[in-house]
Amino acid sequence: MEGTSEGDEPFIYRLNDNGTGPNLVVKVCAERGWRMYQGYNGSEEKWNIWWRSSAFPAACYKTLGDWQFMNHIPKGGSICRKDNLSRLLRCMRRIYGTIYDFTPPCYHLPLEYAKLVSECSRLRRDEGVAGSSVVWIFKPVAQSQGRGIFLFRSVCEMSCGTAAVVQRYIERPLLIAGYKFDLRLYVCVPSYRPLTAYLYAEGLARFGTDKYTLSDIHNPYRHLTNSSLNKTGPRFAECKDRIGNGCKWTLKQVRRALIGRWGAAEWLVWQRIRALVTLTLLAQAAGTPPARNCFEFYGFDVLLDDSLKPWLLEVNLSPALGTNCEADIIVKQPMLHELFDLLGLPMKHTGLSQLQGPPNTQVTSSEDESGTSKPVRTGGARRGLRWRRRRTLPVHCVNLQAPTNEKLTDTPGDGTVGRQFKISSDISTDSTDLQSTSSMATQSADNADETWRGGYATVATRRKIMNACSWGNGVRWDRAVGRVGQWVRIYPHLLPNEDQVPMEDARESVAHVSKFIRAAREVSRDSGGDAAIRDSARDSVFEAALRRKLQYGAHFEVWHPPF
Ligand code: ADP
Repeated sequence: MEGTSEGDEPFIYRLNDNGTGPNLVVKVCAERGWRMYQGYNGSEEKWNIWWRSSAFPAACYKTLGDWQFMNHIPKGGSICRKDNLSRLLRCMRRIYGTIYDFTPPCYHLPLEYAKLVSECSRLRRDEGVAGSSVVWIFKPVAQSQGRGIFLFRSVCEMSCGTAAVVQRYIERPLLIAGYKFDLRLYVCVPSYRPLTAYLYAEGLARFGTDKYTLSDIHNPYRHLTNSSLNKTGPRFAECKDRIGNGCKWTLKQVRRALIGRWGAAEWLVWQRIRALVTLTLLAQAAGTPPARNCFEFYGFDVLLDDSLKPWLLEVNLSPALGTNCEADIIVKQPMLHELFDLLGLPMKHTGLSQLQGPPNTQVTSSEDESGTSKPVRTGGARRGLRWRRRRTLPVHCVNLQAPTNEKLTDTPGDGTVGRQFKISSDISTDSTDLQSTSSMATQSADNADETWRGGYATVATRRKIMNACSWGNGVRWDRAVGRVGQWVRIYPHLLPNEDQVPMEDARESVAHVSKFIRAAREVSRDSGGDAAIRDSARDSVFEAALRRKLQYGAHFEVWHPPF
């Protein structure tokens, strides 16, 4: 990395609150030459990256220095609770319509018990016998790994002692050799303001270990695909038809299994998944404050039904990083290394001498509408101003400048650390520039504004957003690279022009996704459907066709798992 020398102290990683955490994180950090934080007993102050399985207390964000990074964004976990996710997506569905039809109908218990009962009776009335056989799935909101989940056909079979969601069960999942599976996709969001999101090309498929059938809804090994559950199943170690032993595949294996049967529709499914991930992130973007040097690393669980429609099941805040089988090792280790590369975190040394303490004033710079800058103290008067402005705009009208023309600022990633500094000629590679970026950002006084309730088109808000997307290590997310290793930028589709402030109107963002999906459908249809070529050459043909349809250049990245 530029500006560091061998004499610098090593990069220090801090793991949870006591130094314990996933072995893979320890392994990858050690491979990068990082040193483990020794200060859990108070003996050391300095650290560079703090990796925590759960969210951070709000105070931690306020004291973040230029060379410190945290793996959560304030309020970045809203989509990770089953009930919140369903509320947010419901709200988006109401505003934007059927494009948000990618989660099964869902009821929150105990609040919506009566609604659930009336829906069950409606189904019985409307659909007769078929309606009474509809299957539902009960999921406690605060649990994971399949705990507390069960399937039922009639509400009388349901005992509810805890806050839960009840979802319509996807009764006809896509099967491979008779086994149900879901997909685990890895997503990195280094900035919500503006939304910048990456999706990893590899991922996992997790299989049930008993063959799927609806005639036995109480056997979890047929219906739940959590690997923590299936590894305790009686047939886990057995060599199962096509699936083999264990319960995991890589996405590459899934592609190869699907491509022969589905032709061009197989390619389309990955584009639909990309859209689903982006739309889900947009659902919480408006309520997430700008946060500098913070990122989220999510695990998205997606189920395909037998018509290849992807359904979002849930989003995980701290996706499992255990490596219990070959597929885990193939996927997770490079993914974590490339995640740190993407974030511009160095190999080996960092220049800890650059580590700056937290700013000690809460003074932030503000500008009046004429552009004159004056210091103001964050406080009551300012809050009043914010409140007055808040009432004038609808909640999702965040800002009005969507990416327009493509600008040739995006250098295709070469997979090496530091490439972010070469993206654009206006982002200099020398340390003077790094310093000026970081001091500018430090002057903003707050790394994450917990009082944030949405963005408005004020100069001060824009400044806050611009500060937050210029990280202390010089990485600029308003100039986010298209691809680093297998991390592919899925949003924004294109970078804004250099003279544009990259703010987004949620409405416009959804429109971009909708246009993208329409174009992907046309590409898949025009390709001749089932007769389309079925090898890896097909991907580049489809990519070129998609770029042409969208009138995007080579800087628009097309995402799909490796073939
Ligand atoms: P957990 O947090 O406990 O993993 P999930 O929502 O991921 O909860 O559900 C666990 C498993 O149950 C999923 O991996 C999937 O196999 C199955 N599942 C969950 N919801 C549905 C649904 N609506 N339809 C079909 N299968 C589902």
